[in-house]
Amino acid sequence: MKKVRVRFAPSPTGALHLGGVRTALYDYLFAKHHGGEFVLRIEDTDTARYVEGAEDYIMNSLEWCGIIPDESPRVGGPYAPYRQSERRDIYDRYKNQILKTEHAYLAFDTPEELDAVRKEFEAKGEVFSYNYKTRQHLKNSISLSEQEVQKLLNADTPYVVRFKMPVDRTLHLQDIIRGHFSVNTNTLDDKVLIKNDGMPTYHFANVVDDFEMKISHVIRGEEWLPSMPLHILLYEAMNWEAPEFAHLSLILKPEGKGKLSKRDGAKFGFPVFPMNFKDPETGEIWKGYKEAGYFPEAFVNMTALLGWTPANDKEIVSMEEMIAEFDLHKVHKAGARFDPQKAKWFNQEYLKMKSDQEILNLLKNEDPLKNIRIADDKLLKIVSLMKERASFVIDIYNEGKFFFEKPTSYDEKAVKKAWTESTSKVLGDLSAKLEASKFDSESLREVIHRFAEEHALGLGKVMMPLRLALVGELKGPDVPDIMNIIGKEETLERIANAIRSN
Ligand code: GLU
Repeated sequence: MKKVRVRFAPSPTGALHLGGVRTALYDYLFAKHHGGEFVLRIEDTDTARYVEGAEDYIMNSLEWCGIIPDESPRVGGPYAPYRQSERRDIYDRYKNQILKTEHAYLAFDTPEELDAVRKEFEAKGEVFSYNYKTRQHLKNSISLSEQEVQKLLNADTPYVVRFKMPVDRTLHLQDIIRGHFSVNTNTLDDKVLIKNDGMPTYHFANVVDDFEMKISHVIRGEEWLPSMPLHILLYEAMNWEAPEFAHLSLILKPEGKGKLSKRDGAKFGFPVFPMNFKDPETGEIWKGYKEAGYFPEAFVNMTALLGWTPANDKEIVSMEEMIAEFDLHKVHKAGARFDPQKAKWFNQEYLKMKSDQEILNLLKNEDPLKNIRIADDKLLKIVSLMKERASFVIDIYNEGKFFFEKPTSYDEKAVKKAWTESTSKVLGDLSAKLEASKFDSESLREVIHRFAEEHALGLGKVMMPLRLALVGELKGPDVPDIMNIIGKEETLERIANAIRSN
């Protein structure tokens, strides 16, 4: 079997969205499953659509995801350069080669001339296509004599190179995911291969590079399926063996039909990009999973399952397991509906798998924690108490703010529920007991229980106002655990504050 070499070939036209990450991931998983290489090639021949910073963004995002290319513009490799804009001489060579065959021709039609023809067709209620029917009547090296062509070339007349689509051939094509399908060449047009500035179009550069870089499998989004017949014919025209193809179905909007778009993220409040991306033109920030607090492993796990189900319907799968199990034949033909809530669930699962110490280290790097001085053993206790209710590391801080600061106000509803006329006296008396108590959770629990019994009070009558005094509302983990962590002095102060304010 041929050495497996798979490429991800994004165009630097903006941030890499979820669909792009999934394509890169499947490329990577397939390559690694077969012990092959994963190549990153930047397809930047379309200068009009080039976006500043996009290339770096793509490479940084893949790195964050742990989808590491064996060859790329950054690390180089045996088929460098990996940026199409730097491969012009290679395309020139193959341009000359294809022009020597009968599969390509020069076309001198100006954009204005083509526009005029298009309008003529429209007037007749037809759609113009540069194809086997029309090429004879247009200005190209098929319709013109050799002398006429030479004259135009001598006069430096701009031209494009077009592919000469064969007439009435039925192509039988095979896609690893979609299976067999056929296309009649009469439905296809004579695509431009080389533009009038000498630069190749996507189609030509893509096929030349896949050949030159010895790509064995092309795995890409289904928007490229309509290009497959042309690509296959290009390989044939050049007398090259074509790679195998697999076209991935779309990622769909959370509800309803249609492709998940970058606007959906902003509209429904979830990220559709791996990392934040600042649009250099508009200054707009496209939100990313990284900055939203997701673990890369969780994000990648979620992305992998948009269109592929590992054995036994397992949901939590590491990169190693994915590599071991990945099979293109098991990739779904139908589109995968994206569920942003499920993304959170994945993150929660990965959070649960981390040790308290790991979470502690991550938590200390979160902005609000940078200015708080708190001993590691205390923080570790907070982590262990709060991690069950957290989806993100920062939730431990956000949901446990009361560990770090006194309540500044008391939730009105909670006050109504927890505070009665006698509460101040009850908490005052309890304070005296607490002052004399050891401050581990067990001792505190015992003191509070005994106090409630001795005063013939239901436990709630003591616990609820106490919680209100410590937290400011009726939420959080067990009260004795909170007291243990914030300590005696702080506990008594918070009780005194609550008595004063309520
Ligand atoms: N440059 C194309 C893109 O941006 C690559 C398509 C392909 O993989 O052939 O999607």
